[in-house]
Amino acid sequence: MVPFFFASHWMLSVLFQSLFQHRYAAHRMYTMTPRAERMLHLSAALVQGSSYLDPRAYAILHREHHAHADTVRDPHSPAHHKHLPRMMLETARRFGGLLTGRIQAEARFLGGYPEWPTVDRFFNSWTAHLGFGALYTLFYKRFATRRWHWALLPAHFVMGPVHGAIVNWCGHRYGYRNFTTRDQSRNTLPLDVVCMGELFQNNHHARPASPDFAAKRFELDPTWQVMRLLARLKFIQVVHAPPSHPEAAGERDQRPPKHREEHSISMLAWPS
Ligand SMILES: [Zn+2]
Ligand SMILES: [Zn+2]
Repeated sequence: MVPFFFASHWMLSVLFQSLFQHRYAAHRMYTMTPRAERMLHLSAALVQGSSYLDPRAYAILHREHHAHADTVRDPHSPAHHKHLPRMMLETARRFGGLLTGRIQAEARFLGGYPEWPTVDRFFNSWTAHLGFGALYTLFYKRFATRRWHWALLPAHFVMGPVHGAIVNWCGHRYGYRNFTTRDQSRNTLPLDVVCMGELFQNNHHARPASPDFAAKRFELDPTWQVMRLLARLKFIQVVHAPPSHPEAAGERDQRPPKHREEHSISMLAWPS
C-alpha cells in the first residue's frame, strides 16, 4: 500500500506541476473557462499538498530561467551552481522572495498566471504544510508494514521542490540533444515517466511554445497525452498545435512556411 501511495503521489504531483504550474501558469499553452481554471488550480493544490508551488512565483521564476538559461542570471542551473543542494537552496530563496514580494521581478516576467488569493494563501501557510504532513504521517502509521517504508515519508513533504530540482539539474546536465541551443539543456530520458515529460529540457528550450515536449518518434511526453485527452473532452483548448515531428509521416504542419518559422523561433508563450 505504501509504495503504491508513494508512486501515485509522485506521479500526480509532477503531472500537476507540469500541466498547471509549468505549461499553464508560466507558458499559457492552453486556455480554459474560469471555472475549469479554478478546478485545476484547486486540484493541483490538493494533490501537491505540503509542497504546493504558488503558480505566480513559479511562473516568474520559470520565465527568468528561460530568459537567462545557464547564464549567471539563471535562477537554477548546474552550469554555475556547484552542487545540487546549493542550487536547491538558492532556488528556494528566490522562490520565497518572489512569493513574499521581497524580490521584485522585471515587468516583462509578470502577468498571465492564475491567481486565487484564498487558495494560494492557505496552501502556502504553515497550517497547510503541517496539516498535510500530519495526514501523510497518519497514512504511514496505518499502512507501513516494513521499516524501509518510513524512509519514503520525508519525500512527501518536499515533493514539488524535489521534482523541480531533478528537472533543473538532470535536464541541463545529463542526456542527449536534438537541437542546438545557446543553453546546456538536455533530454534525459526518451520516455520520461519519472517527471511526466519535464525531462525533455532540450526540446522544450528549443521550442518553448510547443505543448508537446517530445520531438522525435521514439520520444513520448506523458503530460502532452493528458493535455490531448483534456482537449478532446473540451476541458482545455490548446493554443498552438505542436510542430510536426520531423520524421512523423502523415502529420505535416499545414501552416504556411512563414508561420512555421515564427512558431519554431517564438521565444516564449506568455502574453506580454
Ligand atoms: Zn518552460
Ligand atoms: Zn530548463
